[in-house]
Amino acid sequence: MGLFGNLQIGNMDANSQKKELDLNNPTEHHNLVIVGSGPAGYTAGIYAARANLNPVIYTGMEVGGQLTTTTEVENYPGYPEGIQGPAMMEDFKKQAERFGTDIRWGEVTQVDFGRRPFVLVIDDEKVVSANAVIIATGASAKYLGLESEQRLRGAGVSACATCDGFFYKDKVVAVVGGGDTAAEEAIYLAGLAKKVYMIVRKPYMRASKIMQKRVLNHPKIEVLFEHETLELIGENKVEAVKLVKRKGQPDEEIVEIPIDGFFLAIGHKPNSEVFKPWIETDENGFIKTQCKSTKTNIDGVFAAGDVQDPIYRQAVTAAGSGAMAAKDAERYLAELEEAQRENA
Ligand code: NDP
Repeated sequence: MGLFGNLQIGNMDANSQKKELDLNNPTEHHNLVIVGSGPAGYTAGIYAARANLNPVIYTGMEVGGQLTTTTEVENYPGYPEGIQGPAMMEDFKKQAERFGTDIRWGEVTQVDFGRRPFVLVIDDEKVVSANAVIIATGASAKYLGLESEQRLRGAGVSACATCDGFFYKDKVVAVVGGGDTAAEEAIYLAGLAKKVYMIVRKPYMRASKIMQKRVLNHPKIEVLFEHETLELIGENKVEAVKLVKRKGQPDEEIVEIPIDGFFLAIGHKPNSEVFKPWIETDENGFIKTQCKSTKTNIDGVFAAGDVQDPIYRQAVTAAGSGAMAAKDAERYLAELEEAQRENA
């Protein structure tokens, strides 16, 4: 048994059914692997490629990340007229490629950060090794957890208005959530649908003032404050939503509203699951980074973007932390090279 022979393999439970992989024999070695292709991943790629670190990005399933599911981005500096999210991510990608970032379609499905070099499994098939890793896997949409919601996913239930809104032209839809995402999705859907209900569980919205104003003044949007979703009704497709109004109050009321589509916009869950056997996260799964850096608890593994940011979660802050991660990785790799030279 080799030096690392008895080490735990990351994500053991999830992978127990999967093909046996020989983690001792990676088929390819990379200097720096960046996991994820949102603003953080691509920015890390731009900086790392320009520093001659030969970065390889594994894009993940959602190439370009969450911004590919959004419409107009108005607050990213440098785009005074605004830009569509997918077009912006295409620009990020081109810029990373221009400096030689090797961008590959693939998902990291398992890691072993107990070894040096680190070991990563791509798509449950290919084993690669890396001197340093930047985790920039972002976050994914949350669901309410209702049986009916699960059953009708893809049959009227969606977590992406820009992806699926087109199917609801002149129909009636509901958006659940009271944050900026919900407001943005409600406005987008109101451009297509006949009527949009916004289901907000509190007596007020969490969205920014400007978005609240746009929603409240929109003739096609009706905001249902203090409403919570009990279930979706429909056999093979969404036909109505059952809500409880002012739950727990003396005037509590159950209401049923006919709808054709139900859109989730209640926040996101960080995509950190595969790294959890090795990387410290907070109680919500966000990767913990050391003060004023992108360093994780494992030397040589860095985290950038929404996967480590429960607070700001903006494209521009994600891009900023991607640049930080590349700088941190650059320093780490220079020190590693120096140590290897001294030991040679
Ligand atoms: P937020 O966490 O800001 O809001 C989530 C919303 O969903 C809240 O209203 C919350 O209600 C509600 N919610 C959560 N769980 C449930 C549940 N189980 N049932 C019903 N309602 C629920 O997430 P967002 O995705 O809206 O935004 C994330 C971040 O991204 C924010 O910082 C936001 O400002 C930013 N953003 C900015 C945009 C822009 O500037 N263009 C666009 C989109 C997002 P409650 O308030 O009661 O907790």
